[in-house]
Amino acid sequence: MREVYLDYSATTPVKQEVLQEMLPYFCEKFGNASSLYTPGLEAKSALDHAREQVAELINAKPTEIYFTGCGSEADNWVLYGVADAYKEKGNHIITTVEEHHAMLHTCEYLAKHGYEITYLPIDAEGRLNLQDLENAITDRTILISCMLVNNEIGTVHPIKDIAAIAKKHGILVHTDAVQGLGNVPIDVKDMGIDFLSMSAHKIYGPKGVGALYMRKGIRIPNLIHGGAQEMGKRAGTENVPGIVGFGKAAELARLNFAQHVEHASRLRNLLAEKIVAEIPDVMINGEMEERHPGNLNVTFKYIEGESILLLLDQYHICVSTGSACSSKSLKPSHVLAALGVSDELIHGTVRFTTGDFTTEEDIDYVVECLKKVVKTLRDLSPLGPDKGWK
Ligand SMILES: *Cc1c(COP(=O)(O)O)cnc(C)c1O
Repeated sequence: MREVYLDYSATTPVKQEVLQEMLPYFCEKFGNASSLYTPGLEAKSALDHAREQVAELINAKPTEIYFTGCGSEADNWVLYGVADAYKEKGNHIITTVEEHHAMLHTCEYLAKHGYEITYLPIDAEGRLNLQDLENAITDRTILISCMLVNNEIGTVHPIKDIAAIAKKHGILVHTDAVQGLGNVPIDVKDMGIDFLSMSAHKIYGPKGVGALYMRKGIRIPNLIHGGAQEMGKRAGTENVPGIVGFGKAAELARLNFAQHVEHASRLRNLLAEKIVAEIPDVMINGEMEERHPGNLNVTFKYIEGESILLLLDQYHICVSTGSACSSKSLKPSHVLAALGVSDELIHGTVRFTTGDFTTEEDIDYVVECLKKVVKTLRDLSPLGPDKGWK
């Protein structure tokens, strides 16, 4: 049976070229990058090279890239770091209702410790209103943080405009770019960003490696204390193979950018067209223009996304409901709720993400299986247009 993975926003497979770069650093070139003999220096120079590769993808300087254990760590670091370093200036942070839980739960923690958090709303299409941002700023605001690309509905936000507003008020600006990296153009200098979070496993690199871009000249306290790794800013013996893999994945993302975007969006659009044409009572969430190239978020009325997911799994098709993080809880997705989608409809929502290994045949197969699955579930459902329910 065909196996189709349409959950590239949850994670991506490591590309062969990436794996090949990583392999020598497990057994042969296993040196600790802090050691002064040759194998240590080899590991150190591998880290330097990866730092250049990641920096180049976002037009940063290599010395502005700090490797972390994941994207979540980069998000945590910025929030704790700015909250601590700027506490004399103020205790107010502005973010959005649709952030990843790595941001939201850290904000909730800070709120318990005296910080005030403003969560900007999104409209029914997933967009932010920049006037809301202007209105939220006070003289106690120390950080504005908005994700570059939403992980559930794929909306791309105007970070350059947001950064311009932050600059005008002398406020630092962070973006969680984990979903944006490799999917939308990123130039931290042009965009005027102070902090940017990244993760390797969303761009065909390994899991357990992330990075924080921190603009030169900014100082925030460390999150992980210990040795002098990462220019003294992030302790812990570096994950050399993982970082080497992140570097290679970043290089490939830069070189294949146009091709990746064209491929993912063409297949995503094909999937959207076929679903809308062949399955009744569906609704696409989020605007289609400023959107992650691979993201498609669809509500199938009268049935549950969780059931669709499990039945599709029997056809060896991988999709997710809303976001991977909320799929283990029964809480409706906070992002769809922020769009104004009702709880019943949120429960019928599935997120598909196409990527570099998706083919047209995959899309045909998924739509065929989806038609069967949706019909089966709707036949069983007490809800529906011809069942006296709406
Ligand atoms: C995946 C993701 C993260 C978390 O990255 P990890 O490396 O898995 O910790 C953070 N933010 C967004 C938007 C994500 O999609």
